[in-house]
Amino acid sequence: MIGLGIESTAHTFSCAVIKKNGKNGKILSDIRKIYRPPEGEGIHPREASRHHIENSSIVLSECLQEAKVTIKDIDIVSYAAGPGLGPCLRVGAVVARTLASYYKIPIYPVNHAIGHIELGKLLTGAKNPLVLLVSGGHTMILAFLNKQWRVFGETLDITLGQLLDQFGRSIGFASPCGVNIENLASTSSKYVPLPYSVKGNDVSFSGLLSASKSIVLKSKADACYSLQETAFAMISETVERALSFTEKKELLIVGGVAANKRLSEMLKDVCKRHGCKFFVTPLKFAGDCGSQICWTGLLENQIKKGVSLEDTFVTQSWRLDSVTVNY
Ligand code: AMP
Ligand code: MG
Repeated sequence: MIGLGIESTAHTFSCAVIKKNGKNGKILSDIRKIYRPPEGEGIHPREASRHHIENSSIVLSECLQEAKVTIKDIDIVSYAAGPGLGPCLRVGAVVARTLASYYKIPIYPVNHAIGHIELGKLLTGAKNPLVLLVSGGHTMILAFLNKQWRVFGETLDITLGQLLDQFGRSIGFASPCGVNIENLASTSSKYVPLPYSVKGNDVSFSGLLSASKSIVLKSKADACYSLQETAFAMISETVERALSFTEKKELLIVGGVAANKRLSEMLKDVCKRHGCKFFVTPLKFAGDCGSQICWTGLLENQIKKGVSLEDTFVTQSWRLDSVTVNY
């Protein structure tokens, strides 16, 4: 079974081809083009969707070429139907619908957040993990129970990715800024106290963002270091409580912020205390990519034959805990 997956929820337009054989999946290609907003600015949905339209055909043909397949070899096509930015989501949906209707290929709308998790499980071998999903669009702690991912903690305002990106832009980095902040933070070890806000098992980052901006004048490096230490400690506390409660023996980090080494370091300590195995999605596949969507579509294909074109959709705020997972 060969699948084609299309991702276009935010800054990335990506197509990937995966060959599925039983429980195994082999990524044959994963091509991406990323929209970069001007320095100091966030994603403009219309500009990002224009970027996706302009790049969609080249990404698709490169992806097929690298996988050494033609469109005739593709058994199913999947696209990210949400959550995400409406204008961006529509580009991926249009490309998928066009291929599905012209070439008569079964089509699968996929939840982007579930895509992050399923690809993380495939690539790390985690079986039944507590999942930390930390990206531009999400900050959630999740565990699977009775056919659904259940939320054991989430952000009450901005996501961890937004915290890093908004702070980074305020000090002159171009979005996405996570890696720049990580690099600058590694040059400091001076902690400046910042607001630490855990409510129940949820976190709130907006006060931390404002306070970090106010300490930046003294030293950008100290501010980056203190921001990371505070935000990651908040995440670690909530992950630790969720581990005690669920008694899961595996922790899996997925999403773009999973690339951060300091975050992994702190969470490894948490896992050690709980006798829990630690898994992190490989760097190349932590951020948004077509493979996430492709693999989830292939899993859904195990139990259903796709949806009719009339039933394809995009939903900007499609929560993953509203999706029933039957495969
Ligand atoms: P995604 O939405 O899954 O594509 O993830 C994008 C987010 O990951 C952005 O907010 C980036 O700033 C963040 N990110 C990428 N690399 C790193 C890193 N090394 N440290 C922290 N955040 C990162
Ligand atoms: Mg994402």
